[in-house]
This record gives sequence, structure tokens and C-alpha cells, in this order.
Amino acid sequence: MKIERFEFYYVVLPSRKPFVTATCTVLDRELIVVKAITADGPVGWGEVDADPDPCYAPETLGSARYVIDRYLAPAVLGREISTPEDAVEAWSPFVGNEMAKSGLELAVWDLLARERGASVAAMLGATGRSVPVGVSVGIAATLDEFLAEVDEALAAGYRRVKVKIRLGWDVEPLGAVRERFGDVRLQADANSGYGVEDIDHLAQLDEFGLEMLEQPLYHDDLADHAKLQARMETPVCLDESILSARHARLAAELGSCRIINVKVSRVGGLVEARRIVQVCRDHGIGVWCGSMLESGVGAAYNLAFALSPGVTNPGDVIPPLRYFERDIIRPAMEMDCDGTVTLPEGVGMCFAIDEEALEELTRERWSV
Ligand code: MG
Repeated sequence: MKIERFEFYYVVLPSRKPFVTATCTVLDRELIVVKAITADGPVGWGEVDADPDPCYAPETLGSARYVIDRYLAPAVLGREISTPEDAVEAWSPFVGNEMAKSGLELAVWDLLARERGASVAAMLGATGRSVPVGVSVGIAATLDEFLAEVDEALAAGYRRVKVKIRLGWDVEPLGAVRERFGDVRLQADANSGYGVEDIDHLAQLDEFGLEMLEQPLYHDDLADHAKLQARMETPVCLDESILSARHARLAAELGSCRIINVKVSRVGGLVEARRIVQVCRDHGIGVWCGSMLESGVGAAYNLAFALSPGVTNPGDVIPPLRYFERDIIRPAMEMDCDGTVTLPEGVGMCFAIDEEALEELTRERWSV
């Protein structure tokens, strides 16, 4: 298979309400949808899930566009690609820029799966079609508003609640969830909002019986996370710290975490995500699939990954319409009342692009 051209759509998904974490507030979600076009075969779809600003990660949509247009797309155009690893190999001279690489790699997976008449999930070794999912609840203006959102999510069927925390918004909301909702599956995500000086404070969170405490410290503080993990019973989960299988191995050997949140786009695509899963299996580390407020395109690949072997915990495969007024896939991704999301029958990413919605939500288009 040879890719002849990439088309890119700068899309803005209108949010239902702002999503607040320790490091950023997401208003309308901006992202880049990728369409890979072959000379005579199918087209493949991917998505670049960087943010406009370098707050969650150093990459931005602007930097991703530059790197894709100048380096990544030219490296694969016209080149024979038989496996996703062939594309990854073509990008091996270029360091970092994981989200940019992931956006193109997902389109390659889609194309190769369609060519084989298979789903991406099947290519990943998935056997089932449904996964249990959890919900992520942002930092709210008041405790009442926050509890109302948790209440609504649990009533909707979500199997696990992840609470975004930061200094000053941690003990109180977590305690309130335990008081009101008993032994619900609960975890917290700090998005690097604490420092090594807060270890004693964080150790208090053990009392809430969290399934995990996600990314409490700065992204490159693997050694400090190991100090914290030694001090806490709650499993530490790393998110922003893990960009590669190499990072996962280092974290495992240092004892920095007991769980890793693998976000497909943060780690550069499904090829590296699978390598990380293998490292976690080798070291007895739990894995779950996080989300980055993707459109349905990104969420479709998250679902495929969450179904693949070695993913041990319920993930954040949250239907995009929970957060956005509109999405760009058909059929709409929905959660069943038992708190699971099901992959439709199909090939490639198993969802179709809603061309009309894509057209209407696109602010800019270009091709390479
Ligand atoms: Mg996180």
C-alpha cells in the first residue's frame, strides 16, 4: 500500500461545558483530523489530539502541523507500507512529537485494516467487543456542582469515577464522594499538580481507598514518584511521564508506579502502546486506556486498544457526545446502560466519518 496524499481538517468541536484540570481548561476542543488517501484503494482516518497550548504536553496543534507537513508526511508518502511498523520506521529519524506521529499512524492502521477486510481491533488481537468504562469529572466551581456531576455519571451507568484534583481540591471532593456514594470505584488524577514537598499531604489520600492516584508529580520526576509510591498504599499511576516503552521500563524498575495510563496519542500511536503493554505484562503493572477529549475518530481507536489483550482496568473510552454538542462519526458512540461501550461490526476503525458534520466543524483544510 502506498499513500498518495494526506488531507488535514482543523476541527473545532463545541463543548457542552468547560473541562477543568490542574493544568488547563478545555473550552471548545480543537484538533486535527487526518485523511490518508491511496491511489486506488481505501482511505484511512486518524486524529492529532494535541492541544492548542503546551499545557498538558509540550506538543501543540501548531507544532504538530509543522512537523507533519515538513517531516512526517513526506517520509511516508509514496513509500510501500505493509505494516504500521513500516510507518514508524520511516519516522525513526525524528524524535518526540508523539501526537503528530500518532495522528498519521492511526490513519495507516485504518488503511491497512480496510485493505485486509479486518478491524483495527482484530489486528490488535481483541476478542470481545464491549469494554467497561469510567468517567472523568473535572474540577468544579462548588462541591454541590461536582457531586451532582458524579451522581449523574453513576446514574448513567459509568463503572468508575476519576476525579481531577489539585492542591485545595483533593481531600474534600474525594471524601465527599466516599460519604455520598460509598464504595464506588474511585480514582484521582492530579495532572502533575503537586511537588515532592507534598508527599506527606498526598499520603493522606490513602484513606479514601482509591484504585489509583494518577500523575501526582511532575512528568519527568520518575525518581520522586518512586519515593511517593514507597510512602503510599494507593497505587500510583503514571500518565504524562510515560511516552514510550523505554519510560515504562524505567518506571517499573524504579518502582515509580503500579499502573500506567496508556493514551494512544500521547505515546505516538498503537505500535508503541502495544510495546508498553508488553513491558507492563513483564513487570506486573496494570494498564488502562486514558482519553484526551478525542473526537469519535480518536475514541474509536481508544476503544480498539481498550479491547486488546493486556489492558487490565476500565478505561476512559467516554462517548464524545458526553463532552461535545456534535461529533464526526457514524454511528454515534454511546454507552450502554450497563456502563460498557461496544465496538460496531465493521472494518478499519469500525465507524464511518459523518462528512457533513466534518465539513461544518472544519475551520481550515490543507493537504500534503
Ligand atoms: Mg491523566
